[in-house]
Amino acid sequence: MKIAIIGGGIGGLCAAVTLQKQGFSVQVYEANSMFQPVGAGIGIGSNAMQALMEIGVGEDVFANGHVLHTQVFQNQNGKSLNTVDLTILKKLYGQENITIHRAKLHRTFLEALKPNTLNFNKKCISTEQNDDQVTIRFEDGTTVTADILLAADGIHSSIRQQLVPGSIPKYAGYTCWRGITENKGRVDEYTSTELWSTKGRFGMAPMKDGLVYWFACINTAARNPQFQQLNSQEIGGLFQHFPEVVHNVISTTPLKSILHHDISDIKPLRHFVFGRVVLLGDAAHATTPNMGQGAGQAIEDAIVLGNGFKQFEHVDKVLAFYEEKRVARTAKVIRLSRQIGAIAQTQMRPIAGVRDFLFPFIPSKVLMNRLKFLFDVKLK
Ligand SMILES: Cc1cc2nc3c(=O)[nH]c(=O)nc-3n(C[C@H](O)[C@H](O)[C@H](O)COP(=O)(O)OP(=O)(O)OC[C@H]3O[C@@H](n4cnc5c(N)ncnc54)[C@H](O)[C@@H]3O)c2cc1C
Repeated sequence: MKIAIIGGGIGGLCAAVTLQKQGFSVQVYEANSMFQPVGAGIGIGSNAMQALMEIGVGEDVFANGHVLHTQVFQNQNGKSLNTVDLTILKKLYGQENITIHRAKLHRTFLEALKPNTLNFNKKCISTEQNDDQVTIRFEDGTTVTADILLAADGIHSSIRQQLVPGSIPKYAGYTCWRGITENKGRVDEYTSTELWSTKGRFGMAPMKDGLVYWFACINTAARNPQFQQLNSQEIGGLFQHFPEVVHNVISTTPLKSILHHDISDIKPLRHFVFGRVVLLGDAAHATTPNMGQGAGQAIEDAIVLGNGFKQFEHVDKVLAFYEEKRVARTAKVIRLSRQIGAIAQTQMRPIAGVRDFLFPFIPSKVLMNRLKFLFDVKLK
């Protein structure tokens, strides 16, 4: 079977590794001319680590990652609102939550691929299918055919928007900067911290090699020109109401190590499979980053699809299995992640007051139980 994958992001590359290991002929087509060393960290949840272990790259990802033992939530004065013990993940599910540099995650996938799998400067502009094959047309005038097309072309997926008109990204109401800088003892070695206020939210987590990954979000209109060209000091200035370490971490991050995006998701889809075209990763279920699960869900997609091919001979059954396993689960993540964002980003003082009053009374175990569905992942 010949499988074409559009998009060489985390989802597309993970799918390519998974399917190639099962002996399929796989080609990845990426619009960009090369891989940029993506300047941000990423959290990989226990569920995604469990999935990566199935395809033999988990050990490498773990070795390049940094384990988190605790997740702390604080108010704007740095007073603890709640603490979640993450060490129980290992005991319960066999894998921990880690942080990793995105570039290292990409490199792990790239190194696991056969030579000549990736094709750069290949922007897909249209697809056509009949009962047996899909034809993919690229901007450079070339075409290829495949038995199955995996559309892993991200949140703005043009393939999804052709198949499901109107499935455009929906702005969540907040814009987000994220960066990587040297830790220099400012952030606890095993603790991920998130601070909430009515004027913004800030999070930071340690990474390997003495680095720290942070994100900072404020509510504003989409594409607000006021926030497009800020330097590190100016971004830090927006979060000065938090403890000093927050401003310090942001303002000492070199501007070239800061990314800025408005946060969006898509309305959950009812289907990921359209004949021989299969949506995967953000193209299928882009979510807000409040649960740190977008890439994790893309990784799960890839492994579940691979397991479908192992379990069923007929491709229709494989794709039905994929939809059954993935549509409802990822819809739940999209919805829950939006809700968490709305609570964490609220600007309404009475609501924030009630939140900050009640949150400390919720036992860590109850918070973890709420996420049991996520970490207790069934990939087969
Ligand atoms: C602020 C922020 C923080 C996040 N933090 C986390 C986190 O901690 N943990 C986590 O799990 N997730 C996180 N995510 C989500 C995560 O980054 C995404 O879910 C993940 O990268 C999606 O991977 P993908 O491969 O589906 O899409 P993408 O990474 O978007 O890759 C799509 C690829 O397709 C290519 N492409 C697009 N169109 C075409 C075309 N027409 N032809 C050919 N190629 C094309 C693009 O160039 C790109 O390389 C975060 C997201 C944001 C915005």
